[in-house]
Amino acid sequence: MNRRSFLQQTLAAALLPLLSPKHLSWQENPFRLLRRNVGLFTGRGGTIGWLATADALIVVDAQFPDTATQCWEGLHERTGRTIDALINTHHHRDHTAGNAAFKPHTRQIIAHHNVPELQREAAQRQGTLEAQVYADRTFDTSLTLEAGDERVHVVYYGPAHTGGDAIIHFENANVVHVGDLVFNRMPGFIDLPGGATTEGWMAALERLYQTYTDETLFIFGHGNPKYGVTGGRADLLVMRDFLEGLRRYVAEGIRAGKSVEALAATDRIPGFPEHYLDSWPQALPMAIQAVYQELGGL
Ligand SMILES: [Zn+2]
Repeated sequence: MNRRSFLQQTLAAALLPLLSPKHLSWQENPFRLLRRNVGLFTGRGGTIGWLATADALIVVDAQFPDTATQCWEGLHERTGRTIDALINTHHHRDHTAGNAAFKPHTRQIIAHHNVPELQREAAQRQGTLEAQVYADRTFDTSLTLEAGDERVHVVYYGPAHTGGDAIIHFENANVVHVGDLVFNRMPGFIDLPGGATTEGWMAALERLYQTYTDETLFIFGHGNPKYGVTGGRADLLVMRDFLEGLRRYVAEGIRAGKSVEALAATDRIPGFPEHYLDSWPQALPMAIQAVYQELGGL
């Protein structure tokens, strides 16, 4: 098997579990209130965050059309409102495919300036151009929304998980949705064509750690079922350390003249315990391949 088909096969295998019904059964009730009318919706794909009051309805990320519809119905029932803003943390399909379902119910869709183009390029590669609904309002470095008694601050730290990651802070609730900057105790999806850089990703996690406090509650795009999709700022450093360990493992392998196949044939990164094995089976090999390419091994 040549390297390209090896990469494509493992990519397809890795994305499959995100679509499987198994992920629907994590929680019977996908809605969970966190603090001060800010909560989350698990469903399927990247975790949705929300602020739901009689005065404001903000949604962060859109998952897929079926779960987006379920999320919309629940939030509408809770507030009686249409959505003031849907914010996409980044362009990946499991965060934007549901834009189509939210679109008739939202006044605007907000994303970082780079997101519509990244979304278009990815859709072209996947043959899903017709299904795309794009952000109609973009920002470069930051944006603030007044939302009833809440203030929503949206920032961009530079390329990390993708080339257009938004971080959303519900200031009064002190809840931050970090999108896919954290795969909680999972290897993470390193999307080089989508603008990922593991160095930028680690820097973003360090900056987040410095910016917020031990009182801040974080919502993560994905989480190992055992650890969940929320956490504190210490969890940001677990993700950062894992990325660093991954880079070290691959860099040492490249120096030792190992092939990408040899390096990818492992079930753990040295120094990182077995909880990284609980995620989908191809996640780690795919992350190793991406870093191999990033570090110039391919
Ligand atoms: Zn993602």
